[in-house]
Amino acid sequence: MLTTSHPPQSSLSPTFLFLAGIGIPLIGALLFAFISRLPVGGSIAALSLGLLALIAILVIALIAIHISTIRNAEQLLKQHSDELTVILASIGEGLLVIDSHERITLLNPAAEHMLGISLDRASRPHIASVISCTQQGKPLAIRHTPPIEALHSQAPIKTMLYDDICIQGANGPIPVIGVASPLNDEQGIRIGSVWIFRNVTAEKRIDENKAEFVSLASHQLKTPLTIINWYSELLLTKGGRSLKGDLRMYAERISKGGIRMVSLINELLTVTQIEEGRIRPAYRSIDIAKAIRNVVDECNPIVDKLHGAITFQAPAKPLILSIDPTLFSQSLLNIIMNAVNYSDPLSCDIHISVRAQKNGPCRVIVHDTGIGIPEDAKEHIFEKFYRARNAIDAQSDGNGLGLYIAKRFLEYMDGDLTFESQERKGTTFTIALSSHK
Ligand code: ADP
Repeated sequence: MLTTSHPPQSSLSPTFLFLAGIGIPLIGALLFAFISRLPVGGSIAALSLGLLALIAILVIALIAIHISTIRNAEQLLKQHSDELTVILASIGEGLLVIDSHERITLLNPAAEHMLGISLDRASRPHIASVISCTQQGKPLAIRHTPPIEALHSQAPIKTMLYDDICIQGANGPIPVIGVASPLNDEQGIRIGSVWIFRNVTAEKRIDENKAEFVSLASHQLKTPLTIINWYSELLLTKGGRSLKGDLRMYAERISKGGIRMVSLINELLTVTQIEEGRIRPAYRSIDIAKAIRNVVDECNPIVDKLHGAITFQAPAKPLILSIDPTLFSQSLLNIIMNAVNYSDPLSCDIHISVRAQKNGPCRVIVHDTGIGIPEDAKEHIFEKFYRARNAIDAQSDGNGLGLYIAKRFLEYMDGDLTFESQERKGTTFTIALSSHK
């Protein structure tokens, strides 16, 4: 339970101190006046003592005022602290604060409820002893948990539903989304981080239901589509030798539409496979430059038709990595095809390079000089079915699944996909992949 400590209160009341301030010197003055009546006493001595008494009274009065001010401040502080306690207790989201040594300094009741614990804050336990997270069902290293990443990277870390992060709760894993932000003091010195997270079990369930529906519908659609494609293919080849003019054009359009539908259904099925956790990378040692070359060769006929060019700077030596070649090639194909689709057809210029690092992941960089990604679209770009407005204007075909699939495929291999883009200038996607151990 969240507790707040209040500053200690003084045991002496200001009235007592005030009376003592008047009483003590008064008694002293009377005593001295009595003594000064004696033959040795003098009126100067009595006068100086009176003055002394007056000063003492003033000093004590000031102390009393000071104590009363502190009391008021204490009361104000307590009031603020109580308000904060009520606010934190009523927030539905979990709230966790850590200090610069990664120790928990605050956990609100919602967070405690999710984790099924009651934290003794005075003990300031290390976050690793309280929280364990998973991502896509695999344990997430503590340094990658959002609050720790925010603390060390000094940047906000936002996690979305598709990141598939769960925290270990009392009754099993709980899917969460949230934002972790670094905390700095007035001098800019890092003092910790704060993580606000939300239980998204309901949203996840809806997502799973959607995936189940899509999977079922896709399988059902595939059979009639295969028949349509089969017969339109026949029309255009064997039986279609006699097809001329408009009839031939109609048959070609049916065939093209059918092929597009099949590829959309396949993508939908891939999405459901991802969401049901059915993708298991099959690692193999391959020369990544060769794999890139194969994908580029696959795209080249399309780019040639558009009067464009894809240039690939292959490294001098083979670059052997243990990865899943299918997942990698599919991700790269999606990224390159986007670069093609979102570039000017008459000046499509795509540049691909690979950078191997000694102590880091290998980077595959795909650069285009196309329409770019608008600022407001950047945070949504890896979401399922998301398409930026300029992309919809430029290419009416598209389903917003390619990047979602690419990112997830790469993450399955502990890789990552990031991008930099400027609208109307171009986009650079970077794949980071390490060899599987
Ligand atoms: P699709 O291309 O079918 O719309 P994707 O998932 O592949 O779906 O891409 C999602 C969105 O990301 C695109 O609709 C577009 O807005 C944006 N995008 C992806 N790649 C690029 C690119 N190279 N240049 C500009 N926008 C891009």
